[in-house]
Amino acid sequence: MIIVLSPNAPADSAERLLGRIKDAGLQPLHMPGTERVVLGALGDERILAELALDSDPDVESVKPILAPYKLVSRELHPHDTVVDVGGVPVGGSALAVIAGPCAVETQDQLFASAKAAQDSGATILRAGAYKPRTSPYGFSGHGPAGLTILREVADDLGMPVVTEVMDTADIDAVADHADALQIGARNMQNFALLRAVGAAGRPVLLKRGPAAKIEEWLLAAEYLMAAGNDQVILCERGIRTFETATRNTLDLNAVPYVKSKTHLPIVVDPSHGTGIRDLVPPMALAGVACGADGLMVEVHCNPPKALSDGAQSLFPAQFAELMRTLRPVAAAVGRTL
Ligand code: PEP
Ligand code: MN
Repeated sequence: MIIVLSPNAPADSAERLLGRIKDAGLQPLHMPGTERVVLGALGDERILAELALDSDPDVESVKPILAPYKLVSRELHPHDTVVDVGGVPVGGSALAVIAGPCAVETQDQLFASAKAAQDSGATILRAGAYKPRTSPYGFSGHGPAGLTILREVADDLGMPVVTEVMDTADIDAVADHADALQIGARNMQNFALLRAVGAAGRPVLLKRGPAAKIEEWLLAAEYLMAAGNDQVILCERGIRTFETATRNTLDLNAVPYVKSKTHLPIVVDPSHGTGIRDLVPPMALAGVACGADGLMVEVHCNPPKALSDGAQSLFPAQFAELMRTLRPVAAAVGRTL
């Protein structure tokens, strides 16, 4: 419920109404930054109706939030959210370029890959210490040792880093080493993980599930926000369709659609979205052209030797070329790099 106060409501009316909302067992919200005093109330619709806030003398109007996701919705929060990942903004006019290898393999591999990415303009490092693998025999990451390497390399280069957390038991360790936590596609509806990561006090990058509808994805983001985290970045990384020529089908419809429905920033991952190295640069350009706030791209110092996702990882020279061609595309849609 969105509650707009009358222009001549007394100064203490917001506090009084927030108290009424709280006393009814609902979640009160105070929305600063708008010209009018706007309050929110979340919770059981029947209790909201019983409160009859529209008949309060200080209330001008009461309107339901129609979307099933509330905190995530633009109805409640019309202005774009800018997420701060270790000092790098995601969601403002500057595009965020998150790049690095699929996994932390060795200190040398990560440093060489990260340095190449940074030299070409990447602003946030990515790499997994915990890797979700389809086969139990695949390289599943170095775990805590990988986190240590990740932090060292990120500090050496002065880059913030985002990395995946797969298990609630690892959240503290990952949050101690990373500037932002990634929830992978396969865990998008792991509700226990969403709640716990939402409460971890770090920005979150939430990947879209391979078979998730946009509404389900935004409801997963709602779990994070309902747990107290307003620093959520969405990541479109391709969905499973009948098409098998590419690893996934990168759903770029989702970008402008999601931006119309939510204030949260969205980045596009053309690496997992295509699974094919040579398709990554054109789809990265397309992602930016259709309004993404940034990109997440896999770059490896030696892709043929990569322990995971080598086929979709860019060679450093390819990433440099992508960044060069991205500049005019970004400028054409009013973004800077
Ligand atoms: C990754 O970013 O390396 C990854 C495992 O991605 P996803 O969860 O999108 O498959
Ligand atoms: Mn990967």
